[in-house]
Amino acid sequence: MSDTHTFLPESSCPRCKYLMDATTPMDAIKSGPGAGDFTICLNCGTLLRFTDHLYLREMEPEELDELGASQRIMINKAQALIWSRGPLPKKMGGLNTR
Ligand SMILES: [Zn+2]
Repeated sequence: MSDTHTFLPESSCPRCKYLMDATTPMDAIKSGPGAGDFTICLNCGTLLRFTDHLYLREMEPEELDELGASQRIMINKAQALIWSRGPLPKKMGGLNTR
């Protein structure tokens, strides 16, 4: 995984309400996310998608078909780690958070 953060408009996971203000790409892409890109909640593992203004919405089940095999494997590994670790402390992540 890259350590290149992209700061986002503050948005919360629609499932668990965890606040997020940054994202980190799972591959070598250096540019930030765009509308329609997929992401995953680091708190609960829910699959999310960026809206036109980079807010987060829950991914629809039929949208899984848009993911390739390698993306599904990365997602499955990330969800396994998140679910085995459990929820994060109730504090927003990101470099600008005190
Ligand atoms: Zn969540």
